[in-house]
Amino acid sequence: MATYEFVCSECKTEFEVTCHMDEREAQAVCPKCGSHEVKQVYTAEFSSPPPDKY
Ligand SMILES: [Zn+2]
Repeated sequence: MATYEFVCSECKTEFEVTCHMDEREAQAVCPKCGSHEVKQVYTAEFSSPPPDKY
């Protein structure tokens, strides 16, 4: 289980979804307007920049 932050594309409401990683897409529904048009917010949890290559 982990907490994921989302922002609704419809009403800009930010909310958190606590679920398994595989379920976050299905669980990510705006609590205000019920829209599935949400984007995941990636918080700057790590200070290092993302890798450019693998
Ligand atoms: Zn919304």
